[in-house]
Amino acid sequence: MKNKPRIAVIGAGLGGTAGAALLARAGFNVKLYEQAPGFSRLGAGIHVGPNVMKIMREIGIEDELNRQGSHPDYWYSRDGKTGDILAQIPLGDYAVSHYGASYLTVHRGDFHALMTAALPPGILEFDKRLTKVEDLGDKVQLSFADGTVEEADIVIGADGVNSRLREHLLGVEPPKYTGLIAHRAVFQTPVDSGPLPFDMCVKWWADDRHMMVYFVTGKRDEIYYVTGVPEAEWNLSHSNLPSSQAEMRDTFAGWHPTVQALINGTKEISKWPLLERDPLPLWSRGRIVLLGDACHPMKPHMAQGAAMAIEDAAMLTRVFQQVGLDDHETAFRLYEDNRAERAGRVQLVSHNNTWLRTNENPDWCFGYDVFKEPLVEGRRK
Ligand code: FAD
Repeated sequence: MKNKPRIAVIGAGLGGTAGAALLARAGFNVKLYEQAPGFSRLGAGIHVGPNVMKIMREIGIEDELNRQGSHPDYWYSRDGKTGDILAQIPLGDYAVSHYGASYLTVHRGDFHALMTAALPPGILEFDKRLTKVEDLGDKVQLSFADGTVEEADIVIGADGVNSRLREHLLGVEPPKYTGLIAHRAVFQTPVDSGPLPFDMCVKWWADDRHMMVYFVTGKRDEIYYVTGVPEAEWNLSHSNLPSSQAEMRDTFAGWHPTVQALINGTKEISKWPLLERDPLPLWSRGRIVLLGDACHPMKPHMAQGAAMAIEDAAMLTRVFQQVGLDDHETAFRLYEDNRAERAGRVQLVSHNNTWLRTNENPDWCFGYDVFKEPLVEGRRK
């Protein structure tokens, strides 16, 4: 490894961890720096579509994820008040035969832990908060809050919506609060489901708010909901705040009894601001490149934000393999050429919150294979 170019990935979220795992498997000399002192199993679920499962196959954790996750038969969309079915999108066995991989819902902490465990030893360093970046032309110097300084030939900014590396490339600019918050709760079943049995994966809709509900384990012993609800203001100094059953009842007054049953079953609820940025004018400069929320944060309404970060990581690995690291500018351009349009499309559909409200065909999203998609050049000037 000694003379190989050094790649530093900043941020061990889902995008950065996937990137480090894929780059290490491809034989690159990679280090992953994370500001947190460690990870815990925070209360949230996540959808992992076939587009992501194909990348998990490459990382070597597809089988274990398939074992741990819940395999919804359908994505249901239901009217929030009447419970009428608005859309029924086939997943389950259909996803495996049609897209070539499963569609899962899983606990986010379990997913992250599996991916972290797939990293070769010695790659991930915790307690490393990047504070300063200097691109010296032939290398980049990275200064951390603990006083240490590291050098790298390539730096990947996977440091999320408040990215320090985005700030280095484009200046200080807080993300935009969308005027929406998300309530999140994970809790143990059984819980009385009211008049309807719990669907394995369902989004309850009204025009200005929604609630997405799904199991996060294959045993279906934990269920999760996440909402999108208007709230005029949010103080961005809080990353999240506690909520309550009373607030939820008020917010979803008059909704279907099965939604009320879920609220009644909830133990702890938190609420989070939903943040966005306009598409960035550049994704890279010099030896630094961005991925995931650092680059294109989006509303979570398509359940594809982490998926885009992971796909970015896989595409970066692919172009590094194809172009090599010496010509990193060409590699970065090729990466952006092949990611900006898709990430932008997902960002827009998420913004509009229309995804699967009606029986649309999701093939363009779920059927994407980042390793097989023909590469295009010159899409972004
Ligand atoms: P992050 O996950 O934010 O990771 C960034 C990492 O960088 C963090 O670990 C952070 O500690 C670290 N970091 C930050 N600054 C520094 C620094 N200076 N130095 C070192 N480390 C640093 N997506 C889906 O695909 N499916 C879903 O079902 C889904 N549901 C969602 C529900 C909600 C309510 C929300 C808010 C989002 C949801 N998303 C979902 C979106 C998804 O969470 C994000 O898009 C995804 O986490 C982005 O991954 P990332 O790796 O780019 O950034």
